[in-house]
Amino acid sequence: MRQQNSQNNGGSRRYSREEAEYLRRRRAAEEMAAERKKEQKKIRRRENLKITGGRLLVFLIIFLIIAAIAATVIFIAFCSTPDAPKTSGDITYYYGGKEVRRQKAEGHVTLDGAYFCFNDLSEYLGMAESGNAAEMKFIIRREPAKTSEGQGDEEYIVFLTDAKRVIVNGQEIKLEIPNLLEGDEVWVAIDFIRDYMSGLSVSYDRNRAVLKVARVADEELSTKDSIVYMPVTFRLSRTDPLDQADRTGVDTSGFKVDIDSLEIPAVWFSEDLSSYEKYMNPQGEMRDAFLVLVNSGHRISADSVPGDLVTVTYGNMSGTVQLREFAMMSLEALFTELRGAGFFGMMVDSGYRDYAYQSNIFESYVQKEMSASPSLTRAAAEAVVSRYSARPGTSEHQTGLALDMDNTGALTVDFADTDEYRWLEQNAWKFGFILRYPEGKEDITGIQFEPWHYRFVGRYHAYKIHESGMCLEEYLADLKS
Ligand SMILES: [Zn+2]
Repeated sequence: MRQQNSQNNGGSRRYSREEAEYLRRRRAAEEMAAERKKEQKKIRRRENLKITGGRLLVFLIIFLIIAAIAATVIFIAFCSTPDAPKTSGDITYYYGGKEVRRQKAEGHVTLDGAYFCFNDLSEYLGMAESGNAAEMKFIIRREPAKTSEGQGDEEYIVFLTDAKRVIVNGQEIKLEIPNLLEGDEVWVAIDFIRDYMSGLSVSYDRNRAVLKVARVADEELSTKDSIVYMPVTFRLSRTDPLDQADRTGVDTSGFKVDIDSLEIPAVWFSEDLSSYEKYMNPQGEMRDAFLVLVNSGHRISADSVPGDLVTVTYGNMSGTVQLREFAMMSLEALFTELRGAGFFGMMVDSGYRDYAYQSNIFESYVQKEMSASPSLTRAAAEAVVSRYSARPGTSEHQTGLALDMDNTGALTVDFADTDEYRWLEQNAWKFGFILRYPEGKEDITGIQFEPWHYRFVGRYHAYKIHESGMCLEEYLADLKS
């Protein structure tokens, strides 16, 4: 290029050889210098880059160190406030700003809170208490009481022994977090207050393991000199107005049935069964009138027929079923409550059976056994049959106080695995019935476990038999001693 230009610019002038040589060298030298310059520039740029990179690296390392320190600090901070509930050490309880108790945290924390003692709350709020360990009742009474009995505008809660249910103003509630029953104290999860009570605030500081319950102030009515609190109530309203309660003889407030409370606990139903009370819980002379014992050693005479047999007029029955009046009425109450609890499939299969009926049944079984095994003597066949069917005069179905019921009509031990059976296990006594042939008592009753066979004795004795774990034979022997 240059040469061309020189030549063009040079016009007609021609260079001498030396001149040309000099020029060529100079150009070459210039080009080399330029090249070197370029190279140096490149190197400088590269070095600059190296320096910047090195600085960046230093900055990065410093940043990482600072970040690591910060992370450690945060980590340590978080370790002292773990997400999992504190399950060791003590929980301190405050009610209305006052420390009330300390309790081992272990077993008293829930996933997102803690348990607190409802008895403490009751004391804090001045609730009235009644019932017993089986069914603890706490009452919030309003002033003034509407009646002389002090049962005016009140609200109540009953804690049942199964810990999973409570009755609030007559309504039964199944709890998501079961209560804790410790001695005569009930412990409930703080969610319970949030869900079912108003006028209270409850908080649990998991880090410090402090649970606080306090009344909520009514900001409109409170002044700086005096605090007016919101009324504490249970969120569920009562199902039956107290004014409609029948107060003649039986206290039905919340369907409570007040019976000899020193002897047996108060009984609660979700249905209004007050009209059945005199049958379920016979009083006076009638209390012991149903303790008759019929078994292989205590025969009932062939001509014994109860004078007060009535037909059972409810339930899904196969054929006509008869029972004595007290047993029938009590069974009707039991079925009413059963349906209230959501069990609709229960049926009564058999009640009163007269001597002739039992005799025929027994005889037909004997014939069946003898034709199945022709070598059997009649006595041997009777012995075989008596293991599963009562000999005439030894069946308590003849008393009119016994019945068979289940949810299929099959009358098998499978019934013992049903929710209906478990309900009966817990509740039958309240209606005056006992499971007559319990498991493990075969040696005494002489009859295999029959989860379907119930016997009316009245609530007083039914409760005692239920609580003691005795069968009727043992209980009667114990009464006499
Ligand atoms: Zn039976």
